[in-house]
Amino acid sequence: MALSLVVLSSLLTAPVPAPVVIEGVVTEQSSRWEDGIIVTRSIVEVTNVLTGSAPAKVQVRHLGGAVDGLGQWWSGGVWLVPGERVRLDLAPSGAEMTVVGGETGVHQLGAGTERYVRTTTASAMPECPQQMKYPLFWNVVTIPYVIDSAGSDDIRPPEPAFAAIRASFATWENIDRSYISFQDNGLVDNVKIGYEKSGPNSNAVKFIEEDWTRDFRALAITLATFDCNSGEIVDADIILNGEDAVFTTNPAVDVTKNDIQNTVTHEVGHFIGFDHNTDPESTMYSDAAPGETKKRDLTQDDIQGAIDVYEVGHEPEPAGCCSGAGHPGSPLALGALVGLVALRRRRARA
Ligand SMILES: [Zn+2]
Repeated sequence: MALSLVVLSSLLTAPVPAPVVIEGVVTEQSSRWEDGIIVTRSIVEVTNVLTGSAPAKVQVRHLGGAVDGLGQWWSGGVWLVPGERVRLDLAPSGAEMTVVGGETGVHQLGAGTERYVRTTTASAMPECPQQMKYPLFWNVVTIPYVIDSAGSDDIRPPEPAFAAIRASFATWENIDRSYISFQDNGLVDNVKIGYEKSGPNSNAVKFIEEDWTRDFRALAITLATFDCNSGEIVDADIILNGEDAVFTTNPAVDVTKNDIQNTVTHEVGHFIGFDHNTDPESTMYSDAAPGETKKRDLTQDDIQGAIDVYEVGHEPEPAGCCSGAGHPGSPLALGALVGLVALRRRRARA
């Protein structure tokens, strides 16, 4: 099941069994920046070893977390919370372990909901240090993005792939009662993924054709960087797994391939702050079969989510307009935002 969008459960061979399965309690975490990416290490005190062997304490390395007031969240990524009891599917990686299958390798209690789910500042892994849990949101009406000019190795010439990506953004933009919109800033060579506090940054969509370092079953992953003090997203990138997956823009013909628009429409949902929905019909459902196209269209619940968060008539005020109404975003993150997007203060929501 589940990584980011979409998992290739029926495209690839069956998921690889985890060599180590443990139950335990997450006790400690530390996070640090490594080349634009926040890397977290969690200590899990092992209570049961179900498969393989493991020491009494296991150090689990995973991506995402919060450092210096900024959080990073990977769709489909591993989310471990100190104090929580979990069963983990693990693989040794040097002296550490990594979780097999991303979020699907973390087993917790608790049922899902059939309603749309917002990513929050608690979704950073570990969550932001603040007591408050803020849902993620963009504080602008129009979000700019660029596409890496290399496109996909599977689509030559590349224009249909670019068109499918633009159509994916348009689906979320075309919701009548939601103001959220996107500005296509064109193609960029070798666009950088991640977020640098000193900038420059861009919200990018990029096919990774080799050295894909995330879960091989993930078709695509969205990385969001946000302000822990408000939930305001300052940067978001979508990467597609061109190494392990074969993409198409014509799934009616290529039924064994993965539809770019189906994939990216899901990822754009992450890009604007939504997490996975347990409804298999939702665009935000975590799995997709090869040839699938139903995520191209939003369910009524997906649409309602966009309206609730970005409702027409509740647009953020222009920067400097109206004091007191917005979230108290940290100077660090807001500073990083200037020049990236038109900075606006968010209207207080009821
Ligand atoms: Zn996803």
